[in-house]
Amino acid sequence: MAQLSARLERLIALESQIAHKTPPPAGEMEFACQPGTLPLLISAPHGAAHWRQGKVKEEDEYTSGLARLLGELTGAHVLYARCQSNTDPNFYRGVPYKQRLAEILDEAPVHFVLDLHGCAPRREFGLALGTMKGRSCPGMREEILDSLCANGFHPQAKGLRSLDVDKAFPALGKKDRETVTGFVWGTLGVPAAQLEINAKLRILKRLSPGEAHENTLADPWDVEQVIDALCSLVFRLARDGRA
Ligand SMILES: [Zn+2]
Repeated sequence: MAQLSARLERLIALESQIAHKTPPPAGEMEFACQPGTLPLLISAPHGAAHWRQGKVKEEDEYTSGLARLLGELTGAHVLYARCQSNTDPNFYRGVPYKQRLAEILDEAPVHFVLDLHGCAPRREFGLALGTMKGRSCPGMREEILDSLCANGFHPQAKGLRSLDVDKAFPALGKKDRETVTGFVWGTLGVPAAQLEINAKLRILKRLSPGEAHENTLADPWDVEQVIDALCSLVFRLARDGRA
């Protein structure tokens, strides 16, 4: 691999601290908070493996590392998975991750929650925005689209620059399934959106053994574009999200 920029080296260092497939030590939680100064929180509930319906699901690699890096670059608050979880915060209600999220939003003036996830490399888009068809962030979906388009991700683009909007991953949940986005908007009344990032835009170096996306590695330049786009989005939402 060619020499990486300092922030990509930092991303790998942050992601290296995640215990992707190890439960937390007894008495400790599987997630951690990185406090910030902006009125926005970045969430990464699937940054480590997690249990859903009796099966372990592999981690959304580099989403915890990316969330933490974005927190360092922008000042956003971050809540991220740091160890394997025995539950799934983007599926079940009343889980400790959601309780912690509610506490943070109670304590800090957060006006928006951006929930980061990772999707498979076979997906025909680079990013997928989920806003419950606009319901989870009333009046702000256009702002988000505008910001992502201005940074090179567009609904009409092809391949990794393509932006899916509320089709593949609308973050809707169901009666027995509650997304983080659904919880933040529906229960806490704070605008929120989910963003799925293609594996080809985030896996810089393999750090965790696993079958999923085994041969996928991102071009460092593409990861730089994602970091730029997300930093711009965070600043824009932090500025405009004071409804
Ligand atoms: Zn996920």
